[in-house]
Amino acid sequence: MSKIFADYALINGQIKENILVETANGVIDSVVNISKKPNDDSVIYHKNCLLMPALNNSHSHGFQRAMAGLSEYRQGNSDNFWSWRNLMYHFLQYLTPEDIGHITQYAYLEMVKSGFCSVAEFHYLHNQNGGQHYDNLGLLSEVIIEAAQNVGIALTLLPVVYQQANPRGEECSGGQLRFTLNNDQYMRLWQGLQQYAGDNMHLGLAIHSLRAVPLAHIKQIYQNIGGLCHIHIGEQRREEEEIVAHYGQRPLNLLADGVGLNKNWALVHGNCFDDGDIKRVVDAGAILVACPLTEANLGDGFCKTREFLQLGGQLAIGTDSHIHINMPHEIQMLEYAMRLRDKERVVLADNNIGQGHLGINILEKIYRGGALANARHNGCIERGFRADFLWLNGNHRQLMHKKPIFWPDSMIVTPDKNMIRNVMVNGQMIIDNGLHNNEKNIKKNYQKTMKKLMERL
Ligand SMILES: [Zn+2]
Repeated sequence: MSKIFADYALINGQIKENILVETANGVIDSVVNISKKPNDDSVIYHKNCLLMPALNNSHSHGFQRAMAGLSEYRQGNSDNFWSWRNLMYHFLQYLTPEDIGHITQYAYLEMVKSGFCSVAEFHYLHNQNGGQHYDNLGLLSEVIIEAAQNVGIALTLLPVVYQQANPRGEECSGGQLRFTLNNDQYMRLWQGLQQYAGDNMHLGLAIHSLRAVPLAHIKQIYQNIGGLCHIHIGEQRREEEEIVAHYGQRPLNLLADGVGLNKNWALVHGNCFDDGDIKRVVDAGAILVACPLTEANLGDGFCKTREFLQLGGQLAIGTDSHIHINMPHEIQMLEYAMRLRDKERVVLADNNIGQGHLGINILEKIYRGGALANARHNGCIERGFRADFLWLNGNHRQLMHKKPIFWPDSMIVTPDKNMIRNVMVNGQMIIDNGLHNNEKNIKKNYQKTMKKLMERL
């Protein structure tokens, strides 16, 4: 049993003062208001901080962290997702399991330091360079599990099915060969990984996209395994056109009619959704995972977040390609995309929640959607929820002297990770005063790996 006293705590959309939280086995046992801090040295207390639920990062490809900044130059008349993808495939041929572990650990370190407590790893690297399987099919999945354990971030592991180059069934080649598993191999991999599931690891299912897996195979896998399932749904217009040309249906309708859509589905990137798609997603109770900084960086466009939230949709966020791992900045981009489109301010807030403040509004929405997308019972400071918290430091220059209700707003519009003082995952303090206890080592390994990769690239 441990006790936390907070001067301020964000509880169900409201900032409360003088809150005592008791946790046991990583779960909140009680939340009460008391008159003042208990006179007890064992109580965790950080003066003038706001205790908040930490965030779930609902879309990640850990290894891509090492590629940030390497494709920011023109290669032709129009650079886009597809030219970025060529670099990614080129990059893949040099990555050893050890490299993947070091890069992923570093990405996870940055995540916890910026206020994330869990990550949904959309993990599609399964094979050796050239496509040969490792003797242990789950080797690279185990590398991811170990990286998460070393950092202390909770993991929603989503091994990915990837089987073809396009909807016409063309075979994979080049970098894609590291991804491919047929349905039997995938089922074997998935079953072998079940042994790792526990308090800090949930095993889910992921389909790369309707482009990369035939519909009949998706159906078979989903019927056999079921439960939480993530899919890249509509990132690219060209991808959508290829799917329409082959199946005669747009991606969302194809998935909904061909496999079924329900609250188990987390749909990554809704950039190509029209109003009808959005309504269909909301009606089905499926989750939309937006990755605003990656979508901006790749020139993907953005989803109609405003309309989606107005209909009551479940929204999560992900740092995806990790062009910049910064939780508040990711949320800022989500809001700013709508401001630029609509020429309005404070778009993703409504008047009834958090006195209309953007920060509290948007956090409460992402807490709910992120918990669903990562299958983690958190996002709320109430008995029975996981003790996954962050402490927002009211002593930071951008927050000091402001009333706490302005703190989450300020965190989002001036997204400095140093505002996040502490992060707790499952009752364990992972970040203390901005630092992780294995930070030096993780950074050293990342630098060593980057040096080696940059010499080869
Ligand atoms: Zn992705």
